[in-house]
Amino acid sequence: MAEQEASGLQVLLQTLQSSLDRESILAILQLLGDLLSVGTDRRIRYMISKGGSEALLRTLVDTARTASPDYVILLPLFRLLAKVGLRDKKFGQKALELEALDVTLILARKNLCHSQNLLHCLWALRVFASSVTTGAMLGINGAMELLLKVITPYTQKHTQVIRTAAEVLAALLKSKSNSRRAVNRSYVPRLLRLHQDWHSHDTAHSFVPIRRALLLCLKHIAKLRSGREAFLAAQGMEILFSIIQNCLDDQSLEPVISIVLQILRQCYPKSPLPLLTTSSTYSFPVPGIVTSEAPRVLTEEDYEDDSEEEEDKDSDSEDVKEEDDDLETDVNKLSSKPGLDRPEEELMQYKAMCLELSCSFEELESKPGDDLNSDETEYANHHHIPTAASPKGLFLNKDQISGGQEKEVLVQNSLLSRVKMGRSSIHLTSKRGPGMNSYRNVHSNDPGIDSSGSDVSDIQASFLEDAGDMDAISCPRISASFSNSTKTRETAEFIDQLLQTHLKPMVFHDPYLYMAKARRTRSVADFTMMAFPDFWGHCPPLSAQPMLQRKCGVQRIKILEDVRRLIQPSDIINKVVFSLDEPWPLQDTASDCLQFFSAFESGNLRKAIQVREFEYDLLVNADVNSTQHQQWFYFKVSGMRAAVPYRFNIINCEKPNSQFNYGMQLTLYSVKEALLGRPTWVRTGYDICYYKNHYRQRTAGAGAASGKCYYTLTFAVIFPHAEDACYLAYHYPYTYSALMTHLDILGKSVNRKQVYFRQEVLCQTLGGNSCPLVTITAMPESDRADHLEQFRQRPYQVITARVHPGESNASWVMKGTLEFLVSSDPVARLLRENFIFKIIPMLNPDGVINGNHRCSLRGEDLNRQWLSPSAHLQPTIYHAKGLLHYLGSIGRRPTVFCDFHGHSQKKNVFLYGCSIKETLWQAEATVGTSNLSEDVSYRTLPKILDKLAPAFTMSSCSFLVEKSRASTARVVVWREMGVSRSYTMESSYCGCNQGPYQGLQFGTGELEEMGAMFCLGLLVLELKSGSCSHQLLTRAAALLNAEEESLDFYLQRSFSVLLASSYFRTSVCCVHLQRYYLHIFCELFEVKPVHQNIKSCQKEKTVEDLKHGYFPK
Ligand SMILES: [Zn+2]
Repeated sequence: MAEQEASGLQVLLQTLQSSLDRESILAILQLLGDLLSVGTDRRIRYMISKGGSEALLRTLVDTARTASPDYVILLPLFRLLAKVGLRDKKFGQKALELEALDVTLILARKNLCHSQNLLHCLWALRVFASSVTTGAMLGINGAMELLLKVITPYTQKHTQVIRTAAEVLAALLKSKSNSRRAVNRSYVPRLLRLHQDWHSHDTAHSFVPIRRALLLCLKHIAKLRSGREAFLAAQGMEILFSIIQNCLDDQSLEPVISIVLQILRQCYPKSPLPLLTTSSTYSFPVPGIVTSEAPRVLTEEDYEDDSEEEEDKDSDSEDVKEEDDDLETDVNKLSSKPGLDRPEEELMQYKAMCLELSCSFEELESKPGDDLNSDETEYANHHHIPTAASPKGLFLNKDQISGGQEKEVLVQNSLLSRVKMGRSSIHLTSKRGPGMNSYRNVHSNDPGIDSSGSDVSDIQASFLEDAGDMDAISCPRISASFSNSTKTRETAEFIDQLLQTHLKPMVFHDPYLYMAKARRTRSVADFTMMAFPDFWGHCPPLSAQPMLQRKCGVQRIKILEDVRRLIQPSDIINKVVFSLDEPWPLQDTASDCLQFFSAFESGNLRKAIQVREFEYDLLVNADVNSTQHQQWFYFKVSGMRAAVPYRFNIINCEKPNSQFNYGMQLTLYSVKEALLGRPTWVRTGYDICYYKNHYRQRTAGAGAASGKCYYTLTFAVIFPHAEDACYLAYHYPYTYSALMTHLDILGKSVNRKQVYFRQEVLCQTLGGNSCPLVTITAMPESDRADHLEQFRQRPYQVITARVHPGESNASWVMKGTLEFLVSSDPVARLLRENFIFKIIPMLNPDGVINGNHRCSLRGEDLNRQWLSPSAHLQPTIYHAKGLLHYLGSIGRRPTVFCDFHGHSQKKNVFLYGCSIKETLWQAEATVGTSNLSEDVSYRTLPKILDKLAPAFTMSSCSFLVEKSRASTARVVVWREMGVSRSYTMESSYCGCNQGPYQGLQFGTGELEEMGAMFCLGLLVLELKSGSCSHQLLTRAAALLNAEEESLDFYLQRSFSVLLASSYFRTSVCCVHLQRYYLHIFCELFEVKPVHQNIKSCQKEKTVEDLKHGYFPK
């Protein structure tokens, strides 16, 4: 049948071209029309493949060239042409070659007064114009003048003709040469006027397609710089802005509104950022030649192309496109193992960092303080508030320092209570709407205080007044004992008083120790202040916060508010109220504006400009010695009024998209709230959007702005109190001083008889800070030879984090990992007894300290330096790699290597790993790889975590090796050290869209829980591995048998050591969640729950069963 049809079609087409007989041509056209009207697109494409387009075009040319063209033939022919041309990609080219353009134009001209014939010609022109080359040719031949004649002046007669003509014109204007011609012939004001006529007459919105087509013409012209200039000169901004004002909410006008917005954004005059230079305010004399980041000088051509704006995307998909051409497809590169990157003898220096392998443990016990900075440890863990006047009073007695049981209880409680909170949040948190005041949401059950703080007791109230005194609350870094200044001493006394009155004991935090650590932290700008939240500490909120529901159309409203600055400049204040660059006559407190501050660790606000009474443009600092990477922000704001929505715009962001468009909020910490007993970072802000703005990077030398785009993050905040000091940040801050404080407290909290915890210095950073290295394992059972042997033979696990300073979420995950590993949780104990953990919790301390987002002090991304790091230029990477090389050289390659990161574009937590086969498959480069063997064990850990950790999802994991990632920790440790389980763990800045935390944003509790869960995952990985030691399985079994809690049977029989973990024991109240966990453990070990007597079940359980995850019935 298909064959017959095909040959029949060919005969028809041949006859059509050769026939001179009018009746038979008409009959064939009729037949073709019938044929195509019933078939699918496939039929049309088939006809095209058999020369259908050419046959129709030839017939057109032949018919049109006669002295008096026969419209009885031409009209059905045009209809067929329009239909076929739509599906034929080369139609314009064919029409050009067969000279069909000219004859069609001539016919159109002849029929200006004959609308039916004209309409048919326009249909044909519309398909011709879909090719840019053909469109340009039509333009040369005067098509645009013809079309403009058809559409002007405004008339409501023959609207179908006008609509089609306008659409053809819009199609022609896609060609730059046509657009140029249009500008030169003053089409822009004419089109604007015409659009206005249609707009003002079309009150019933019956002609939206005509209005849209006219706007599309303007949009295409505005791609040229000259087009934008003509548009501005013709008052285009004002005209379209006023048009759109009154119809934003009209759904039927949506096709018009979206184009108007695109034109307004496109034509908004581009300008450089309001900064003297985009180079960071902070520069640091670094060794070596810094790789130049000078912006590429752009040509005029680049500039014209640059203005292709994205669609106005309120409902855009957030999926990130994966690029396949970045995949490494060279099998040799994938599977070859490069040689050592340094002389082998250099590795011996790392022996000193693996004392656990050589030292006798008595020696370690007698020397608890072999960590750094021991001179200030006396500040730690005091249980009373000392007076600053007598620093001796801070000294603790020996018992207090030695820690012991009491401290261990503290550790356990903190971990467990935190996990429990994270859990219960699943059940307690209902999905709430966007919060105008996050504090009220988070603490909605708290009695006592409204946003004005009027219910606070007298003492607190007096302090609340003082809290307005920002100098005091900013906490000078210099301690009173080092200064004779009265003011400093007064400040210190004030702080003491504050701490005494308000501070609740906080686990793993100590303000005095923090102060001591912060004093030693070296910053480029030599910060003298500490941010209050870092000093005072943070308690996670009681429940996780839901993601922000985005209001429909909010981005449009924000963009129009931005455009209004241009249209109504008289409303604009434009006053610089804060700047790091100039010695500013800063902050005249008499004025009503907000006050800003950021000269503290991790702070990076560079400039604040008051735009309107309650609106501020903010610029964040570029990374030190760099001109870019603005994304992270952290600053203080004060002097606010109560119940007023303030709008903030961070106008120099760089990433093209952000989770801020998909439910993420920023974080806020209120000093007054902290003094009221709620020292908590909370998610805050509403009307949040992230979009491309009109700022462009200044091109070197050219003066004019061009090139790289910037993005605006806009948000509104209603502060919880008037005259408060609040801190706003991209994500929960976690400073280097916080890490050093935490490590000290951890070190002192452990039970030294059981936990081997050693903190030492991996190396000094360029900025002169110590990069800590932590070793955690269990003390040997005794000094018997076999116990020492077991101690030294434990496999290594290596974990690193925070190579990217803006990824503070990675530090919170790491905090969870560290606290869990030293805790008295049975799982942690098992982990310690079976592994040695080498942890570098912050690979880029300098970046963190100086408020960088991405880089080191040399302005380079340290996670692109692993291939050949230098000891002088990238010391932390050089020595981290050296330590890994050393472990490899003594046959102690780690089982797992994982580098913790934060991900700004995706939700959940997931792993990136490395697989040759998956990379080649994905790239479809599988030739000659059939004999390639690869261990698939790299998938086991992510699969386990998928079941185990509520925030984790396997579906976002990827095991592809990208060329652009060849110098990252993950790829280098995999390829050079041969660690098949080498990972990057990415945690969203936002939250989860799956699992029990679905719809919730991450709090620090969830991130810390992830860190603990990662450790659990390592244990399950070991239990499931074929090489799992009999000793570990025995211990696991013993732990299980020791567990006799009288929960219901289902829970009891669940399986394994994991149930015995205190994660379960402490959340008895939450049986629902236990069932969830039970379910996943059963799945993990492929165990089917069986209803039977508990006792018999336990009796029958054997070590072998445990290993196979099998339970006898
Ligand atoms: Zn990262």
